[in-house]
Amino acid sequence: MADNASSKPRLLTGDRPTGPLHLGHLVGSLEARVESQDTHECFIIVADLHTLTTRPQKQFLDDLPRNVRDVVLDLVSAGIDPAKATIYLQSGVPAVYDLSVFLSMLIPKRRLEQIKSLKAMAVAAQLTEDAMTLGLLAYPVLQAADILMARATLVPVGQDIEEHIDVARELAMVFNDLYGEVFPLPQAKLSRTPILPGVNVGVGGTGTKMSKSLGNAIYLKDSKVDVADKLRTIDPDEKHADGQSPLLAYARAFCAPEAAADLARDFDAGKVTGSALHDAVLQSIEARLEPIRQRRSELDSETGLVEEILVDGTIRARTVANRTLQDVRTAMGFESMWSAFVDATSERAKARKRPY
Ligand code: ATP
Ligand code: MG
Repeated sequence: MADNASSKPRLLTGDRPTGPLHLGHLVGSLEARVESQDTHECFIIVADLHTLTTRPQKQFLDDLPRNVRDVVLDLVSAGIDPAKATIYLQSGVPAVYDLSVFLSMLIPKRRLEQIKSLKAMAVAAQLTEDAMTLGLLAYPVLQAADILMARATLVPVGQDIEEHIDVARELAMVFNDLYGEVFPLPQAKLSRTPILPGVNVGVGGTGTKMSKSLGNAIYLKDSKVDVADKLRTIDPDEKHADGQSPLLAYARAFCAPEAAADLARDFDAGKVTGSALHDAVLQSIEARLEPIRQRRSELDSETGLVEEILVDGTIRARTVANRTLQDVRTAMGFESMWSAFVDATSERAKARKRPY
């Protein structure tokens, strides 16, 4: 397919293959991706390079093949249609690393040091501030390269990384100002559940967002029993410092708005027990998860299908990225400089019978 085959605006978003996808992904970004498939040309990145920002150790790299496969399986099971969307592996698109180098020259280090989510990621990965790598600090720059390589304008993400999309937009503006219009400006899109809290499993608990790395997650592939057990770790009476109840946050995320409001009111009035509140929320979660589980087991049993989806998508993403990189190098003058050097050697190359 040619790069400009579609006239639809582009969407790019994705996930780090640090584990399978969870309910936070579903309501934070994944459902928005599925809804946008007909209005946007969608690029869904499986961001394996981004896992290196907090998990560069060999044992984590050894987990990548399984995690990448899990993420692709989750994406397609949740409704991403590989015939419409490009699901691709970040490390399989080297032009993005080149673009990232160019972009890294256009942002002050201080801007990145101010981003709170990077410190939160370091904490989640049990890294001290001193142990934060250059790669983690530059995470939003590589992310900007992902977004800009696809010339995406819409980026559905959770609130934790909203500021990274600001960085991508700032970088696009600086680049366009310096070298001419190459990039459209990307915009984050938050869902009505921009942060789903975790459950009381793993180290994160309900006090932080549901996260793969913290283990406080209900995974899309969890069995019905596991989902119920995990949800019931949340005490219905629990309230955070801001007065918010984590269980009611789940009600708002998974029940219809009116039903969630009724549940909150009736629970506060003592008309609904904690156990009934758990049950109501579980029923709504299951209505979302059951079809995903079913589709997952069908896809999983088709040998090579998940791999084919990823390979096809990655080859397509490479074409798009190479085109963008060519445009970037042309705008910056690297292409014409290289051509001029090659042209200047042409007589000598002919004489040596080694034309370039
Ligand atoms: P990790 O702990 O490895 O960082 P994660 O659970 O944070 O994993 P990511 O792959 O980093 O998941 O995030 C993928 C996308 O899902 C991002 O857009 C992110 O903002 C969104 N997201 C992740 N967790 C949540 C959540 N709990 N609520 C809403 N959105 C979320
Ligand atoms: Mg994350």
